[in-house]
Amino acid sequence: MKASQMLIATAKEAPAEAKIASHQLLLRAGYMKNEVAGVYNYLPLGLRVINKIETVIREEMDKSGANEILCSAIQPKELWEESGRWAKYGPELMRFKDRHEREFCLGPTHEEVFTSIARDLIKSPKQLPMNLYQIQTKYRDEFRPRFGLMRSREFIMKDAYTFDKDEAGLEVSYQTMYDVYSRIFTRLGLNYVPVLADTGAIGGNGSHQFMALCEVGESDIVYCEECGYAADQEKADAICTLKDNSEPKELEKVNVGHAKSIEQMVDFYKRPATEMVKSVLYKDTEKNKLYLALVRGDREVNEIKLVNAIDSAEAFLTFGNDEDIKSLHTCEGYIGPVGLDSSVEILVDKEVAELKNGIYGANEALMNYVNVNFGRDYTGRVLDLRKAVEGDLCPCCGKPMKMRRGIEVGQIFKLQTKYSKAMNCTYQNEKGENVPMVMGCYGIGVTRTMTSIIEQHHDDFGIKWPLNVAPYHAVVVPVINKDEAQVALAEKLYKELLASGVETILDDRDAKPGFKFKDWDLMGIPYQIICGKRVSEGIVELKNRQTDEKIEVSPEEAVRVIVEAVKSIK
Ligand code: ATP
Ligand code: MG
Repeated sequence: MKASQMLIATAKEAPAEAKIASHQLLLRAGYMKNEVAGVYNYLPLGLRVINKIETVIREEMDKSGANEILCSAIQPKELWEESGRWAKYGPELMRFKDRHEREFCLGPTHEEVFTSIARDLIKSPKQLPMNLYQIQTKYRDEFRPRFGLMRSREFIMKDAYTFDKDEAGLEVSYQTMYDVYSRIFTRLGLNYVPVLADTGAIGGNGSHQFMALCEVGESDIVYCEECGYAADQEKADAICTLKDNSEPKELEKVNVGHAKSIEQMVDFYKRPATEMVKSVLYKDTEKNKLYLALVRGDREVNEIKLVNAIDSAEAFLTFGNDEDIKSLHTCEGYIGPVGLDSSVEILVDKEVAELKNGIYGANEALMNYVNVNFGRDYTGRVLDLRKAVEGDLCPCCGKPMKMRRGIEVGQIFKLQTKYSKAMNCTYQNEKGENVPMVMGCYGIGVTRTMTSIIEQHHDDFGIKWPLNVAPYHAVVVPVINKDEAQVALAEKLYKELLASGVETILDDRDAKPGFKFKDWDLMGIPYQIICGKRVSEGIVELKNRQTDEKIEVSPEEAVRVIVEAVKSIK
């Protein structure tokens, strides 16, 4: 490609709303253009990278025996009613009506559609197992679209669905996809870890997320260096190690003035937060029911564990409001379980149930109870309700765990019969009975993967693409574009590289050398051949953008190095 013909859209600055490096670089280097919040148009370089990522995904999926199909983004309400998700999905689902008032959504995911395809088209159990996938555009009206392609409202996803006869079959399909995902992310040059993920109402250890390790990630990973256990913080079991054998003391009511928060209480009592209990009022807006979640003062409620415990969905969970507080005859900032209205279900974290003589709100303005004991002064459902934290003991080997941040680039999930039962997707067994197919689903965020690769591969000057996903492998730059010898050599090398299968750009622009070099560094083209002053001596410069190393070599050697590197792409 000649640079003069390319839509090059590099810019000195990124817009202020771009907060993370990959978002800034994708805009500055001209990979995409923003239209409205969370919606992007991919420019030529961006599309080339997306195509490369998709090629790696396709190759690995196809090798595993999966069938590629392509579904519409438009999905009818009726399918979503069959699965029960039309009511459950919440405001993230982009819904619309056609001119005849028929309701539809733009798919945020395709479980219903794929289940309907399997139900209608798989005629015989001999066709099982079956793996169907697509690479397609998804729509989610995210509450806060942010960080560019990291959390957008329209994004490209590879989604796959497996259909098996039984659990044992699903285990095999799941493991196959786990291995496929591992190969894909390795080939894409990502530093990633698979971690155990929450499975919601389905339960069990039936899901993994693939996390690109990165400080700007929105997921917290709890991991054990000793045995390799790794889990999303939402999922990680928090083991209760507290054994408090203190004698229960007499319950007392104390006026704490305006000390409401744990911090203020620590200040007031001059006692650690570990002796206090946070009482958080939640409401399930679907069931219109209130819950009081109790965790120790130094802990946070894990809302995913809470949602699973009350068999609800994140979309329905909110904090109790002033009206709810009033209806319970309690008082904001002083809520507690002792003597609380019995319409509230009390959920007690294991540590809180163990804690002796704790400090709690007393449901009255300015008042606390001290020396509260679970079982004696109040009761409730005891469960693991808190977020795991650094230093918690590993649920597998008992060693202290660490934490780091990651970006969820993919997730695999054993759906089992959740959709096949609801949507009557069955096969006939030998006895002539209709048995629901056992399903798995598997997603990769293609555009989120692109932005994650940049997060892991960039510097202050721009992107440093790994060779196998770079939009082009090499660029040939004559330093002075009026210098005939430089231009002639550059054109010759450009043709040679193209002929050897190297995706190459010739920078034939009439521009200052510094400007051109900055551009290619920003765009992150892995190899630059610079035809400059020493062309007459048979010497060019070869720059490797991954290492930023520049060496002087013969033109033949420069071509050889690049051709070799491109040939070795896996
Ligand atoms: P998150 O927890 O980040 O919202 P999710 O768990 O809801 O993601 P999945 O339903 O598992 O996402 O979708 C599969 C993959 O699609 C994710 O692993 C992620 O890579 C990608 N993805 C999901 N939501 C978005 C989004 N808003 N923008 C870009 N990619 C996304
Ligand atoms: Mg996910």
